[in-house]
Amino acid sequence: ASKHSKKPSWLRVKLPIGQEYARVRNIVDEYKLHTICQSGNCPNMGECWGAGTATFMILGNVCTRSCTFCAVATGRPNEYDADEPRRVAEAIKLMGVKHAVITSVNRDELKDRGAEVWYQTVVQVKEASPTTTIETLIPDTKGNWDALYRMIEGGQEVVSHNMETIERLYRNVRPQAKYARSLEQTKRTKEFGKRTKSGIMLGLGETQEEVFKAMDDLVENGLDVLTLGQYLQPTKMHHEVIEWVHPDTFAMYKEEGLRRGLKYVESGALVRSSYHAEKHI
Ligand code: SF4
Ligand code: SF4
Repeated sequence: ASKHSKKPSWLRVKLPIGQEYARVRNIVDEYKLHTICQSGNCPNMGECWGAGTATFMILGNVCTRSCTFCAVATGRPNEYDADEPRRVAEAIKLMGVKHAVITSVNRDELKDRGAEVWYQTVVQVKEASPTTTIETLIPDTKGNWDALYRMIEGGQEVVSHNMETIERLYRNVRPQAKYARSLEQTKRTKEFGKRTKSGIMLGLGETQEEVFKAMDDLVENGLDVLTLGQYLQPTKMHHEVIEWVHPDTFAMYKEEGLRRGLKYVESGALVRSSYHAEKHI
């Protein structure tokens, strides 16, 4: 408990209620799928699920990594579920999603990092819903570039890989990741011909100069779309909120990002990488 622990007014959001919300919830349950909306306790669930959209999390709900901001359980995952791509594709079709966002846990223990399941998921979603656009928020393949290319060759429109924070905070926030490696992944994704996207959480103790530096590094490595949002602590065990970033500061970052060469910047307290994703296809 510190002076920072009380949420400011601009983070108060509507409760998730309503028919469309219930419909999405039933489909997610029935198809035994995981969503990052639920695991991440996302404050936008009322809005997104109420509008018939959700971010599916594939390859299970146990992650080999232990990022200090993340509410997904760390451990040794079970065998992966080869039927999952089919269920994701059916759920997206049933929900009538126009722009599907799919993400996954890290599967560092698998040689292919889960790339085959990723590929199958994208291909089967496209088959079931040919007019649906797909955005894949993929993990860091730990330098396995063949796995990266398999993950992104299924026909998705957007490939996202979140930097999550600025370089200095990696050891503390993403201990198994490397800043330069994540930048290289974005660069290779761009060279492969994809629209690239990334996200950074604010309020973890970064300075403004460090955020500008991350923007420059991302532009240099071919990034198109950047999202900036307020970090929220999922439980007391997770990284503390160091700062509640003011809406004016978010607005300033948007201008700076565009000035520095990014094509689109979504910047605001409630922005998540999947928030209003359909606008930047
Ligand atoms: Fe789910 Fe993303 Fe919407 Fe949050 S912003 S509810 S994670 S789709
Ligand atoms: Fe969470 Fe992704 Fe980090 Fe795993 S790799 S702990 S799912 S943020």
